[in-house]
Amino acid sequence: MLVPKQYRCTHSATCICIRGHLSEDVIYLVFQHLKWNPRLIAIMSCVCKWFDEIAKRILWKEFCRTRAPKMMLDLQSSGSHSVDGNWKALGKLLIFCSGCNQKGLFNIAHIPGHFVYRTRFSKTLGKSFLVSQCRTDVLYVSYPCEHLDQGDDGDVGFFRGVFKSFSVSKVRTMLIDRQATLHPTEVCPYCKAKLWNMLLAKMIPRSACIKLGAYGDSIECYVCLNGHMLGTCALLPLSDSEEASEFE
Ligand SMILES: [Zn+2]
Ligand SMILES: [Zn+2]
Repeated sequence: MLVPKQYRCTHSATCICIRGHLSEDVIYLVFQHLKWNPRLIAIMSCVCKWFDEIAKRILWKEFCRTRAPKMMLDLQSSGSHSVDGNWKALGKLLIFCSGCNQKGLFNIAHIPGHFVYRTRFSKTLGKSFLVSQCRTDVLYVSYPCEHLDQGDDGDVGFFRGVFKSFSVSKVRTMLIDRQATLHPTEVCPYCKAKLWNMLLAKMIPRSACIKLGAYGDSIECYVCLNGHMLGTCALLPLSDSEEASEFE
């Protein structure tokens, strides 16, 4: 397969990715063999623009599809508004807990972000984050990544998520109608878009606390202009949260 002209490397005249040396097919097969290793995809993206373009268009997409096949099928099943062109962001969302190294985003102490091997995302958990007027939206939210014994902050949970077709979602319409506040400085750690403050918009239902096993009103949460969600909560001690889930 010939490399289309627009994808030829402009990085340097001696770059190995000039037409004829490597093709997309070869790169696809190599990374398939590497099981779409995200670290290697990220490293390769830094080599040159042509590789970066292939990573964004093909490799991250295959990574997402392999890591979370059902979720990806669902996210794409009605036109893929919020996924096309954003596979890299979605790939990072699947494997990166953002923590709280972004000054001012959450009202807790600094907790560094980190990669996670595997995270479970749930549409049912996502439902609990939707206010009643928006219950028909589809939102996937991860079970909290637990950072226990964080001093004054206690047991902290971080969760992240993504809306299906966010551009046509009711949550987005409501955020715009309510003239919700965008964070003045911080941006989405996954796609660099601005972030709406869901707490200030009063759009975090109590059901989210119950489902997460968190203290009431302890959730802080943001949604970016592209429909990625990130948030934190104060986790109840395990025995209490078990009671909470029985109470549902
Ligand atoms: Zn974490
Ligand atoms: Zn984002």
